Amino acid sequence: MLKIKLSELPILFEALSDKNKLYIPADTKGGARFLPYENGMTMTKELNTVRSPKDLFFPQTENLMDFKVEGKKIEVIDTREECEDFVIFGVRACDVRSFEVLDRVFLSEPIDTYYKNRREHGVIVSLACNRPEETCFCSTFDIDCANPEGDVASYICGDEMYFEPLTEKGSELLLNLSCLREGSEAPVYECKRNVYEIKSKLPLSTLSAEKFGKDMMEYFNSDKWDELSEACLGCGTCTFVCPTCQCYDIKDFDTGNGIKRFRCWDSCMYSDFTKMAHGNPRVSQKERFRQRFMHKLVYYPMNNDGLFSCVGCGRCLSKCPISMNIVKVMKKLGEGKDE
Ligand code: SF4
Ligand code: SF4
Repeated sequence: MLKIKLSELPILFEALSDKNKLYIPADTKGGARFLPYENGMTMTKELNTVRSPKDLFFPQTENLMDFKVEGKKIEVIDTREECEDFVIFGVRACDVRSFEVLDRVFLSEPIDTYYKNRREHGVIVSLACNRPEETCFCSTFDIDCANPEGDVASYICGDEMYFEPLTEKGSELLLNLSCLREGSEAPVYECKRNVYEIKSKLPLSTLSAEKFGKDMMEYFNSDKWDELSEACLGCGTCTFVCPTCQCYDIKDFDTGNGIKRFRCWDSCMYSDFTKMAHGNPRVSQKERFRQRFMHKLVYYPMNNDGLFSCVGCGRCLSKCPISMNIVKVMKKLGEGKDE
């Protein structure tokens, strides 16, 4: 275990950003978000960022390629650049798990080379939670917020921060950082014990995903979807703040000088999502709403060895304008299943 005083964190940030591009969760007027580190920047005290760090591997918009058109000749221009190494500092355990969900989508054949490039160059320094909040339910999906995964796990205990390398990439990152000193593991164990105590008292600590998973197609025809989806505005907020949502659209823009092709995040909650020549396969908001939750709780685990496509980060619980969310869906659908 290595450690540093919290008051000396700027020295660590300077050292890391000398070698690699560094992102830290910092406060902005719109809430906490991951930003490129600049001298003097400090880490947010918020538990979680408004948008997750998935943006750094799967950006909201990206220029995939360009086309030059001359008469009947089309030239394809590869706009990709080799990604530089970068470090994401302070990623919570739920968000670290979201990368596994995204990997199974983007790194399966055919591999998304844009995403792969960023994953290979990114180093994740996770940060254990000290005070999980009332909207947190990561343990429903077997995530331990006091024991995060990643390349390096970090823990804030009192006025010190501790670091434990978990992968080769992580060990390399911590090599030759003279500002870090050897530290004992005892304070970290004590911190974890406190977190487990807080967690056990949270309102969602007993929420179980047992009634969901790959064999639960029966929920598709439940009459509860009408009531659950009735007030949904179709605004897509829940999908944009979600670390595991990965829907996108591809759009071409004629610049007058050629064509630019962009990939942009999309939302299954939108009426024109996956619209085809014959129309939209899901014509009502109820069908679109059902798709989002069936995908997270049934379809994704069905195709991914039982892994759920929700990590219990709680973002959709705090951001939905009508206070609808995956927890309410799980509770309502699961009602009466024990009898
Ligand atoms: S944030 Fe709420 S209202 Fe908006 S699409 Fe999601 S469930 Fe519907
Ligand atoms: S569905 Fe909600 S709680 Fe689950 S990962 Fe997405 S934003 Fe977080």
